[in-house]
Amino acid sequence: MIKTKKQGNLIIISGTTCAGKGTVIKKLLENHNDIVLSVSYTSRPKREHEINGVDYYFVSKEEFERKIKNDDFLEYAKVHYGDYYGTPKSEVLDQLETGKDVILEIDVQGAKQIKEKYPETILIFIMAPSMEEVKRRIKLRGDENNEQIISRFKVAYNEINQINNYNYVVVNDDLSLALKKVEAILISEKLRVDRIEDVFVENQEEIIHEFLIDKEFDNSKINIE
Ligand code: 5GP
Repeated sequence: MIKTKKQGNLIIISGTTCAGKGTVIKKLLENHNDIVLSVSYTSRPKREHEINGVDYYFVSKEEFERKIKNDDFLEYAKVHYGDYYGTPKSEVLDQLETGKDVILEIDVQGAKQIKEKYPETILIFIMAPSMEEVKRRIKLRGDENNEQIISRFKVAYNEINQINNYNYVVVNDDLSLALKKVEAILISEKLRVDRIEDVFVENQEEIIHEFLIDKEFDNSKINIE
């Protein structure tokens, strides 16, 4: 009776540093094979545990700038420490076309650019329960120097001030609850009336007529005006 758009939803998940958005996204991907994560390009150096083509495509600054000129990005921004980060255009549009929901794990600047180009994008902001907790989580991670940590804190404060650009905010004080909240958002977004392309309503008169002539049905008990 209802035909909805085949195209997947474009979803942005941003969040303050150490808010746990990476873990929420990982669980989301494990639980739903119709959701994919876009792998960004970056000019920042690869961390030891990271894998090229999985965490990011790691390229030089020159290569990144060549791709900007080539119009290869849906959006790009300088996020931490003057390094570029960007979302590849053709991969994302192709995935949406096949009906997959595509998650972009990008910062507030990128989110703003995408929302301007694609206003139907769903924007979710994941927050740590407090900045004290962020401090604790950064220390635990321990793979950055003081200058880098301070830069991350500044970015985090700046990002929190921009959550008005988002549609939803999820505080991650309990991972399984945060995950449930994000899943609820994505399920509801699939049910939006503006995703309907067509509604087929069968002829009412015909349906009633068929109903009445059905031999099994005792129509003497019903009074139809
Ligand atoms: P990290 O260096 O810790 O991997 O990521 C730092 C920040 O870059 C994160 O806040 C992440 O959301 C953002 N980021 C990652 N990929 C992209 C991208 O393609 N575009 C934009 N604008 N930001 C990104």
